[in-house]
Amino acid sequence: MNRTIYSETGTTIAAISTPQAPGGIGIIRISGPDARKIAGRVFSPSGKKSLEELPGYTALYGRVFDESGAIDEAIALNFRAPKSFTGENVVELSCHGGLVILRRLLRAVIRAGAEPAGPGEFTRRAFLNGKIGLTEAESVMQLVSAQGEQAAKAALAGHEGALERRIASIRGKLLGAAAHLSAWADYPEDDIPQVTGEELKTSLGEVKAELDALLRGFDAGRVLREGVDTVIAGRPNTGKSTLMNLLAGCERSIVTSYAGTTRDIVEDTVLLGGIPLRLADTAGLRDTADPVESIGVGRARERVRSARLVLAVFDSSQELDESDRALIREVGDTPCVAVVNKSDLPIKINKEYIENNIKQTVYLSALTGAGLSRLEDAVASVLGTKELEPSDGMLYTERQRDAAARSLQSVTEALDALESGMTFDAVTVSVEDAVSALLELTGERATVAVVDSVFSRFCVGK
Ligand code: GDP
Repeated sequence: MNRTIYSETGTTIAAISTPQAPGGIGIIRISGPDARKIAGRVFSPSGKKSLEELPGYTALYGRVFDESGAIDEAIALNFRAPKSFTGENVVELSCHGGLVILRRLLRAVIRAGAEPAGPGEFTRRAFLNGKIGLTEAESVMQLVSAQGEQAAKAALAGHEGALERRIASIRGKLLGAAAHLSAWADYPEDDIPQVTGEELKTSLGEVKAELDALLRGFDAGRVLREGVDTVIAGRPNTGKSTLMNLLAGCERSIVTSYAGTTRDIVEDTVLLGGIPLRLADTAGLRDTADPVESIGVGRARERVRSARLVLAVFDSSQELDESDRALIREVGDTPCVAVVNKSDLPIKINKEYIENNIKQTVYLSALTGAGLSRLEDAVASVLGTKELEPSDGMLYTERQRDAAARSLQSVTEALDALESGMTFDAVTVSVEDAVSALLELTGERATVAVVDSVFSRFCVGK
């Protein structure tokens, strides 16, 4: 399906599609009607076959050059429209990864007639050519920047259209309701209203529940995407550093995130059960003997209060003391898991006191790692990510959330109108609004401004 509302420019675009960083291989992607012709002006195959006659999904080995001579060896991979990512003719030139080489080759490709691709322009063309939906395009972007395994899984599911399928099913129900309503409008003398009144309520009720669930999942999904500001608190020697090392050691502590195309290392982000935990101030945790000695004093208190998650560590081989109790008080409403550590030693601690005051309590040994999976469970349950099944499809961006919320609002209005015995006309208007918000969500009725803003957040080359 072509989204013909947007005019195609017919230009051929090119960009470096691999990260702008040293690597073993670098790719220049060329997309548009003249992709093969343009690639042929900078690529000379080593054999007799020419790029122009090359079937789709096949490759040629050769050399790339510009007016001052050979640049590098290269592989030209050919895709014929519409069987490519963008739906256009595409040639990908892979050469050795150096940035100097890639930039020189890109200049040559542009001199040979291609235009430099704008941010997200390849994905945008894929969208315009009906290759992917808007929510899928958004997941492509999420996939590039996903931090944790769960986030990557969700982005991949989005990429595979899970959200669109879920929305399509909700929309199907709404359209069914709309059909009932129009049947009534066409044949007001029939007794359809009595029947449809109840049926409508049921199906609109289902739609409301599904939209509700989708929106709840957005908040939990944010946790997966953005990570969770986490504080490990506890009095000295309870085992905070040991816990930190355990978390860091078991899943290759350092998680990288890509901002644009430069590679920033976000230190001290650990993955626990696929959830990225941003461990605040862990440098301090390691360097100072007792960062939380003065729990109840200024900064430490503030940190515990403003954290999205607190791991409150206690030493099970010791009795609870006043600073333990102070920590429990400071935690207040902050989502918290009590980590009763050193479970390999004989227990002296007052378990009941902790369990009565902190909802999730986990017994583990940071030293041996025993009980770590219980901590994963407890954290998922405190953060509300437990029920989340990323492959079912979830809302990923504020834009999607906003459209789903507007749809829910209209469905609620439709139900209210039914309840209060208003005319079916009023109900119809609300149901149509609900459908149109969903069409916006999937991009089937998105305005040019919305589409522009989605793709402007991509980097060049995607
Ligand atoms: P912090 O001051 O809270 O950071 O505590 P540390 O992580 O430095 O640990 C204090 C001491 O307790 C160290 O000697 C650790 O080896 C020990 N420790 C930490 N966790 C455990 C555990 O699970 N079992 C036992 N037996 N010892 C532990």
